[in-house]
Amino acid sequence: MLQNKFGIIFGVANKRSIAWATAQALHEGGARLAFTYQGERLKENVESLTKDMDGALVLPCDVTKQEEVDQTFARVREEFGRLDFLIHSIAFAPREALEGEYLNTTREAFLTALEISAYSLAQVSRAAAPLMTDGGSIVTMTYYGAEKVVSGYNVMGVAKAALEASVRYLAADMGQRNIRVNAISAGPIQTLSARGVSNLGMMMKYHAEKAPLRRNVEAREVGNTALFLCSPLASGITGEVIYVDCGYNIMGI
Ligand code: NAP
Repeated sequence: MLQNKFGIIFGVANKRSIAWATAQALHEGGARLAFTYQGERLKENVESLTKDMDGALVLPCDVTKQEEVDQTFARVREEFGRLDFLIHSIAFAPREALEGEYLNTTREAFLTALEISAYSLAQVSRAAAPLMTDGGSIVTMTYYGAEKVVSGYNVMGVAKAALEASVRYLAADMGQRNIRVNAISAGPIQTLSARGVSNLGMMMKYHAEKAPLRRNVEAREVGNTALFLCSPLASGITGEVIYVDCGYNIMGI
């Protein structure tokens, strides 16, 4: 489905990362991939995960450092010559902002969460656009806490609301270049970042009981949806938030 296509994936921290499940789906789809990691401590993880992926490129990129973003896309240009898709699977908020009341969010925590989790989508999309000479697909990861209050999700819910709005504005800006921008709203999955949310255990139990499919979603199901969104099968879809949550979001009482 993605033979002779080139993609970049932001956000593999370890084998549980949604970005890693997505990478596996895209790799099986035939794409050649570049991976970015944040900070030296993750380098070894990402290198060992990707060692058997033919032609994988592994690059450092902390999105709070513009020079690292610039260097990342310069290397991708050198190695790949162009890009067909980009997966944005990064988010961060200081742990203390993910407990207690949203009311107490500090200015610093708010700005950090919004910068890393929402602004970075526009930042990397802008850098990717000149390389997407034959059109492209950009996919980001969001969560239901963007639209409804989820206890403990706090400032991350506000950041995800900004991220979802960014998807729509970016889709409008980039549509004329045939670049599509979409978000996947995933149900809760046990990952490193998710463990920072204070009520994760309760959230997962509640989701599994209430969702029509009576279970939690698997990271690979999110990855498969990203594969679809990056493929020609999704050529008419842009600016959307697509739920991969076992149907949880449709339920009322
Ligand atoms: P994860 O494995 O911990 O991935 C989060 C990634 O964001 C990590 O690789 C992390 O690197 C990276 N990151 C944080 N700050 C960064 C920065 N300044 N520059 C570059 N990268 C940075 O967790 P995940 O659950 O797969 O999260 C992926 C995405 O899915 C996030 O947007 C998350 O909000 C979203 N999502 C998750 C769930 C869930 O339940 N797990 C549900 C819906 C949506 P470090 O480890 O170095 O910080």
